[in-house]
Amino acid sequence: MPCFLAGSEIIRCEPYSWCVRTNRLSDVCSFCIKQKKRLQFCEKCSVAVYCSDKCQENDYVNHRLECSLLRSATERLDTTTRFCIRTLTLKKREISLGRITRGEKFRKTLADLVAPLWEGDQEDKVRNAKKIFALIQNRMKVTLREVLVCLLQLHVHSIAVEDYKGAPLGRGLYLDQTEFDHSCEAESRVGAHFDGKIFVLRALQNFRVCSLAKIRMSFVPRSLPVMRRQELLAQEFYIQCECASCLAELQVCRRENAIERCLRDLLSADIEMERKFSLTLEILPKCEGRVHSYYLSKVYGNLASFSNSLGRYEDGIEFAAKALQYEGDLRLVTGLFEELLYAMNELEWNDFRKSNFGLFLDTLQSHKRLLESRLGKDHKETERVSRVYFFYLTRSYVSSKMTSLHEMLREKLSFVSARLLLVARVAMNGEGGVASKRTNSR
Ligand SMILES: [Zn+2]
Ligand SMILES: [Zn+2]
Ligand SMILES: [Zn+2]
Repeated sequence: MPCFLAGSEIIRCEPYSWCVRTNRLSDVCSFCIKQKKRLQFCEKCSVAVYCSDKCQENDYVNHRLECSLLRSATERLDTTTRFCIRTLTLKKREISLGRITRGEKFRKTLADLVAPLWEGDQEDKVRNAKKIFALIQNRMKVTLREVLVCLLQLHVHSIAVEDYKGAPLGRGLYLDQTEFDHSCEAESRVGAHFDGKIFVLRALQNFRVCSLAKIRMSFVPRSLPVMRRQELLAQEFYIQCECASCLAELQVCRRENAIERCLRDLLSADIEMERKFSLTLEILPKCEGRVHSYYLSKVYGNLASFSNSLGRYEDGIEFAAKALQYEGDLRLVTGLFEELLYAMNELEWNDFRKSNFGLFLDTLQSHKRLLESRLGKDHKETERVSRVYFFYLTRSYVSSKMTSLHEMLREKLSFVSARLLLVARVAMNGEGGVASKRTNSR
């Protein structure tokens, strides 16, 4: 019976196929899905980038067809199209080589993944499949049905590959991960993150299960209002969740109200930041007490990052602190801590002589602890934050030593001055005494 301790890794697996999001193609390595400072363009398409020659070589088999399409395509290829093409390229190659990839722990293959062909309302998928088929039919031996199946498999089973703060970088299809079913309640027990394109699932509590396949993970954030959660699960994963949380929340749930709808539109609106900022500030007084905490966390979180990028750092700190009060998604809490620390740095609270230095250090420590439990002590980001924390901790040590030195000095000084006074008094008395003796002796 598998037993997991809080902080231990449950599973770590490579994707079967993967793809960087189209809007991140020029700043994320197409092979390892890592953001690096130095990246080189693919010489042929000048679109995809790689962090090394090795990554570029390794990605060649996945990228070949995508590359020629990127060169010749008249319109931008979206992420879904590229992901489907990369996956089909890989699948066809495996078939021709007679080597089929299997999951490491669960021995699943691509053929084991269901594609919900029986579901109605798939007109858009069929349309999309036709479009992709038209693009590749002259370059690959493939049928329209194969394209449609691949598209549906990816739609149901692939997951977003994110950075440690939850920002999406691409998508991946993980044969082992597909074994885990969804439960909203799993979020307090296990947490997923990515190391580049590698999927890592960690235990956040001690627990025991009868088999690995009985582990559940949450496909959508638990902090979402139950109606939105149900909507997303149905649309994206064809799931109707009946976990205890959903059942209990559905009893008392209400429909999204007008303010919430308005906020949702505003949050996703593609408008200038300053305009979004002022519109959000306008709507804010109407929100408290009237909207679900999910929206409040998003509104305050957005206001925090807007304030910071406009150089209004005190506001940034206040909004981020408010957002922390409502945010339930730990990945997003990580981002909020970064906003807080960024604003504190800009305000120079990281100076150990400033009165707010203690607050800065406490924030940094909480951030470090959060990363340790979410990503583990060995994660690059945890290591970086730990180094920063210990750097400032020695500062505070120096600063407390400074004060104790001051105190000691003051003590010494007062002692010395007291001694001096005493000496002076003794000297005076003594002089008097001596004088009297002298007088006596005379
Ligand atoms: Zn790379
Ligand atoms: Zn290329
Ligand atoms: Zn649920």
